[in-house]
Amino acid sequence: MSEPIIQLDGLEKSYGALRALDGLSLDLPEGPIGLLGPNGAGKSTLIKLLLGQLEPSAGRARIAGFDPTRRAERLALRRRVGYMPESDCLIPDMNGVELVRGLGRLTGMTPRDAITRTHEVLDYVGLEEARYRGLDEYSTGMKQRLKLAQALVHDPQLLLLDEPTNGLDPKGRKHMLELIHDLGHVQGKSLLLCSHLLPDVERTCERVVVIDKGKICSTGSIEELTRTEGSWTRTEVDGDVAAFRAALTAAELEFEVESTFVQRVRLREADGDGLFELAVRAGAVLVQLAPERWTLEEVFVDALANSPGNARFQPDSNSARSSAELETGAPGKGRH
Ligand code: ADP
Repeated sequence: MSEPIIQLDGLEKSYGALRALDGLSLDLPEGPIGLLGPNGAGKSTLIKLLLGQLEPSAGRARIAGFDPTRRAERLALRRRVGYMPESDCLIPDMNGVELVRGLGRLTGMTPRDAITRTHEVLDYVGLEEARYRGLDEYSTGMKQRLKLAQALVHDPQLLLLDEPTNGLDPKGRKHMLELIHDLGHVQGKSLLLCSHLLPDVERTCERVVVIDKGKICSTGSIEELTRTEGSWTRTEVDGDVAAFRAALTAAELEFEVESTFVQRVRLREADGDGLFELAVRAGAVLVQLAPERWTLEEVFVDALANSPGNARFQPDSNSARSSAELETGAPGKGRH
């Protein structure tokens, strides 16, 4: 297995009396990873520690094999890592090309490479003629795309993206998520996508780390975390449904009828193939076999409910705010 792209070992950060990160220990593999947590959980603090912008109060972090507390390693790290900050940090007197090229130069690119790549990444994020406009004329959507472009200019192996869809309208958000998905799944970049929005992570990442109040509450692949216990499978059949259900009973398989042709069947290990044969013998055909899963939202509500001091994450059916945001309550786990 390849080296973890991010390694945390008892990482702590306090601001005065406030412990923003409380002893994080974790190895993260390459690939697209979501860092999820409500506002104030410690996500930005973690990113700043990884970039060497802050010093840990205790513990260690390594990123792309480098120790960000060491100056010499920080320079090498900057070449391998791209950072899209949450804040605007754009220089109003510059235009888009000047900013991206200038930041490319700071990572050690030659003037020629920097200008070539600048135009490539501006094309990639869809900033057309606007690239020659002053940054004070940029809309929020244009600023977000420019921030992504500057993170990509030196073709880094790992991207740290801090709330990349902040302030975007639905169309802009969809475009940003498509770009992030492409970077992680087609271009094979590793990324740490920091967000308080579950759907953003669900659409773009393979793994998640959930933090709250500076502690890790849950981590794993989305595939693993959303798997239900007991292998309940939604099963649709055509043909003799009654005979199929009788055969399920005879085979001592637990099931619940959902509608005329659909039932939820609790499969034992390796029952999947057997179910096809059982259906054929009963004079039915399996039209659909879909393992049930928790939604990522349910996994989070559960993880946060079990984190220390969790009162604000309790289910609140009266909440009018979007349950896709981590600050809000949501119904407990149900099957899907
Ligand atoms: P997130 O990015 O998850 O919203 P942050 O890392 O920004 O969380 O903040 C974690 C905690 O640390 C919050 O309680 C925040 O108020 C506090 N905090 C962040 N930066 C500072 C700072 N520079 N000085 C004091 N407290 C800070």
